[in-house]
Amino acid sequence: MDTTFLQTLGLKDQNAGTSTGLKTMDSGQYIESYTPVNGQLIGKVSQTTPEEYEQVMAAAQAAFKTWRTTPAPVRGEIVRQYGLKLREYKDELGRLVSYEMGKSLQEGWGEVQEMIDICDFAVGLSRQLYGLTMHSERPNHRMYEQWHPLGVVGIISAFNFPVAVWSWNSMIALVCGDVTVWKASEKAPLCAVACQNILREVLKENDVPEGISSIINGDYKIGELMTNDTRMPLISATGSTRMGKIVGATVAARMGKTILELGGNNAIIVTPSADINVVLTGALFGAVGTAGQRCTTTRRLIVHDSIYNEVKEKMTKAYGQLRIGNPLDQNNHVGPLIDKDAVQNYLNALEAVQQEGGKLLVSGGVLEGEGYESGCYVKPCIVEAEHDYKTVHTETFAPILYLIKYSELEEAIAIQNEVPQGLSSAIMTNDLREAERFLSAAGSDCGIANVNIGTSGAEIGGAFGGEKETGGGRESGSDAWKAYMRRQTNTINYSTTVPLAQGIKFDL
Ligand code: NAD
Repeated sequence: MDTTFLQTLGLKDQNAGTSTGLKTMDSGQYIESYTPVNGQLIGKVSQTTPEEYEQVMAAAQAAFKTWRTTPAPVRGEIVRQYGLKLREYKDELGRLVSYEMGKSLQEGWGEVQEMIDICDFAVGLSRQLYGLTMHSERPNHRMYEQWHPLGVVGIISAFNFPVAVWSWNSMIALVCGDVTVWKASEKAPLCAVACQNILREVLKENDVPEGISSIINGDYKIGELMTNDTRMPLISATGSTRMGKIVGATVAARMGKTILELGGNNAIIVTPSADINVVLTGALFGAVGTAGQRCTTTRRLIVHDSIYNEVKEKMTKAYGQLRIGNPLDQNNHVGPLIDKDAVQNYLNALEAVQQEGGKLLVSGGVLEGEGYESGCYVKPCIVEAEHDYKTVHTETFAPILYLIKYSELEEAIAIQNEVPQGLSSAIMTNDLREAERFLSAAGSDCGIANVNIGTSGAEIGGAFGGEKETGGGRESGSDAWKAYMRRQTNTINYSTTVPLAQGIKFDL
């Protein structure tokens, strides 16, 4: 397989896993990155030591002193240049994402495109970051609010979006005047090194303080250094709900702020008036895209009993046409799971749901033989299930779709909302009343609610995130930038008297 993209991205057999921008540090202890595509070792990345972490924090804190007073549009110019570099490296970086994480090449390129889009968004934002002006109740006083940078923002990311999630956070944080320290997933460490190598070109070409955007590398233990660190006022963490509960509690105990982007258990409600072709495309891509390893993956299809058999038959047929194999081969639809632990979780969930009474409509299993040597390729499957099974309420990060029947819309919305997670949701309908009901305050309880679009995939212009065990955080577009800044209310007295509150007077 042609892997020249690794050289183009500056990746070697052994890579420094700690970098403050221009400076890199190699501890001599390495994490190995194996591709789920064919099981081969791609490269090694050095683990960050506690001493290196201290050096990163010192550089970040020093950089913040300069960066916070750099005009926001000037900060935006650095982000603009990074967006241009990403355009140059889009092909190679997309290939690396596909190779290291296992998603299809088209999705790998799509992820880099999201990075480019968020750069563009952040550049525009750098001339906005608006505060408000209020009317003071006191004469000759002016009152307004403004937004200041927070400081060093810690970013902890998951394996499944190994480059985009960082950019959603860091590009917005940078224009806001923060500096960032990124701990990528230990399952996709080369992606982080590649992003930093591309950024380094921009840093070299500009007079930017060392430490505005650093990377550190390792497992949860390095993450814990961040969550316990009072020098990091904000931790943005993407990953499992299990991780989010620990990170959220740790950061809250020191009164820090968090943006938590955690697990989903997303459903599509299919009503009698739905356009079946829209349903099939939306549900199929939602359920099997990225081999079911998106936080927004469609896991439950809640179908009206009048069209249940038709949907069941057509979905089953559509699954029969899926091609599973090397994700870098554009003829394939579904690539591998990230590793063998993920395969075991998939098998366990299939076993558990059958014990609860679930019936396999499209059976699962692990693929073997030529092209499947990594042992990470599994068959996407459909299970006919009851809505209240324990397995159905659990996020299994694999391509398992549960087919559930309903008869009244109220019941379907209740089923959709009864799980602990609250990320993405959708209704397929051509009935205005049903659509509006679903979007109303009595409808979907998720952070994302779509009509005639699947649950998967989101545009960067909107705020991204979910409720309940998904963590409540919002990233990317809309006013998500406010989480990366602190609000300050200012009142200015331009009179010669000082009117005190509550009519209090001093005889001076
Ligand atoms: P994970 O929770 O295993 O790991 C995520 C990151 O957290 C890794 O970098 C890991 O090293 C770190 N981490 C784990 N424990 C930690 C601790 N105690 N302290 C500090 N850091 C810690 O998740 P994963 O398997 O990489 O990703 C899959 C999960 O991520 C799924 O649940 C998926 O739904 C979720 N996800 C959510 C979103 C979203 O925006 N809501 C996006 C992508 C993925």
